[in-house]
Amino acid sequence: MNLLNADLHCHSRFSDGTLSPTELAERASAQGVALWALTDHDEIRGLAEAAAAAQTLGMGFVNGVEISVTFAGETVHIVGLGFDATDAGLQAGLAHTRGGRLARAQGMADGLAKVGLPGALEGALRYVSNPDLVSRTHFARWLVETGVCSDTGAVFRRYLTDGKPGFVPHRWAGLGDAVAWITRAGGVAVIAHPGRYRFSVNEEFALFSEFKAHGGQGVEVLTGSHGPADTAKYSEMALEFGLLASRGSDFHSPSESRIELGSLPDLSATLTPVWQALKWRAPQQRLTPFSA
Ligand code: AMP
Ligand code: MN
Ligand code: MN
Ligand code: MN
Repeated sequence: MNLLNADLHCHSRFSDGTLSPTELAERASAQGVALWALTDHDEIRGLAEAAAAAQTLGMGFVNGVEISVTFAGETVHIVGLGFDATDAGLQAGLAHTRGGRLARAQGMADGLAKVGLPGALEGALRYVSNPDLVSRTHFARWLVETGVCSDTGAVFRRYLTDGKPGFVPHRWAGLGDAVAWITRAGGVAVIAHPGRYRFSVNEEFALFSEFKAHGGQGVEVLTGSHGPADTAKYSEMALEFGLLASRGSDFHSPSESRIELGSLPDLSATLTPVWQALKWRAPQQRLTPFSA
């Protein structure tokens, strides 16, 4: 069960990925993924296409989302898995969370214009497929294409992180709200990429404790941004807090993502995989039409 090639975190054009849900499903299947989830930022409108493509490919699939949360002054991401995508509370919560993105993007563009980079909103919008989901990633792609920076990582370091000219502080969902939207829709909530947050030991303890108290059940142990030390640390914390362990590449794009779909190490046998708590089964092999 732990050795399943599950990839439960990636992004399509419905948020800041560059592939369609169908293209992602095909790529995941070609990489040997047996259980897949699409987890766009604050957005679930790509899931119907993703589910249909997974079914056609004979690949297991569960609904997914990655919700932006503000906790202790930092942005934290909470992944939801296996929920009912028709749940009205979840849909309303996500719509509210997406709501401020365009005004924030205008503020980012104003900040960039002040340091000699005019036209950033129009530039970023050329990379946006979903008008409700303008993300820092789209600004980063534009600044790479125009030659201002050599790669998206450099754009974030120079322009888009706290204190830099294109950064606009934003208040996302509350931790308890995000966990409640997911769990009330029948899903499992998971702390995404915990190794990326710049928390003190006490703040991190508070995040895990409060997440658990709100009904959160899982943590990403294996993810594209974790090195072996992060994986070891969060494996320990999963055991300490009684959390299920998740595995997901956080794939965004063939040219930008460090980790390919379905290519993370196996989950340690000491952990309980999150997929044990999810309702899923591999679809039946498609029947080959009989021709006499
Ligand atoms: P937003 O939701 O608009 O704040 O954008 C967050 C997204 O930016 C994340 O989901 C990542 O895809 C991307 N991102 C954040 N930090 C970095 C970084 N240092 N390098 C490249 N991409 C990043
Ligand atoms: Mn992203
Ligand atoms: Mn994330
Ligand atoms: Mn992600």
